[in-house]
Amino acid sequence: MRIQEIPKPHLDVQSHGSIRVLSDEALFQATGIAIAFSQRHGGVSSGPYQSLNLGSHVDDDIDLVRENRARLLEALGGGDLPLIVPKQVHGTDLVIVNQAGDQALLTASEQAARGADGVVVTVPQVAAMLCFADCVPIIIVSPSRRFAVVHAGWRGVAASIVVKALEALVSLDSADQTEPIDATSTYGPAIQEQEALEPSVLASTYNVYIGPYIHAECFECSEEVHRQFTDKFGDDCAFDSSHIDLGAALRKDLFLCGVLPERIADADICTVCSTDDYYSFRAADGLCGRHGALAFRLDA
Ligand SMILES: [Zn+2]
Repeated sequence: MRIQEIPKPHLDVQSHGSIRVLSDEALFQATGIAIAFSQRHGGVSSGPYQSLNLGSHVDDDIDLVRENRARLLEALGGGDLPLIVPKQVHGTDLVIVNQAGDQALLTASEQAARGADGVVVTVPQVAAMLCFADCVPIIIVSPSRRFAVVHAGWRGVAASIVVKALEALVSLDSADQTEPIDATSTYGPAIQEQEALEPSVLASTYNVYIGPYIHAECFECSEEVHRQFTDKFGDDCAFDSSHIDLGAALRKDLFLCGVLPERIADADICTVCSTDDYYSFRAADGLCGRHGALAFRLDA
């Protein structure tokens, strides 16, 4: 399989009326994959949920949440797409969506409703979204046009859910390379069998997008959590003796898997420090809405 390189990742603010997202237009132009980290403007929720609350589990009016989700999808050009939104449980389970038929989507939705913190999508015309208020939103895009949307709170970062998502993509992409070639085929020119690429070589072709999350200076944690991180990721992820840098821990995992530094785009926004645009569980003492990380691929 020849790897078709995708543009290096960039995150820029895009406005669709009053709805604003961080997105990568060059990626969309090259692949049809729309990615977005939403801000909190342009929705219909009020009070602590003001206004584009996408979370259905935070005691906001569910009809308002549905309207907010529909507005976001519509703004991104995916208004008629089915949307998979898992019940997030701070675990490492992933939902793999590899068919777009009604039955397959129903199965995927049921699996998502039982609890998952990542969605891997291999087919066009299906949107996946996870919800956030301080946890780390991650979107991984492969040149194969498969993608993953991942929710990583500190538990998810510590449990390396991002590695699990990368491995799922690598596994799916590797299967492409080793598809049996029909030797008796009389169609087309002879196909040379190629060496399968190493997993890390595949991962080096992926784009990784990291949205807004609680940054180190605001992520005060217990001694126990602090030790858990420094034991696993080394002292580089310690901001000081009581604060952990989740991004540094994530990067360590990504690099170990073969992701290239220049293929990681970080929004470089701390949610606790940016409550005008984002929801922050810590800043709001737990009562707030959720912004989203969302991706889909449109048919060429
Ligand atoms: Zn901060």
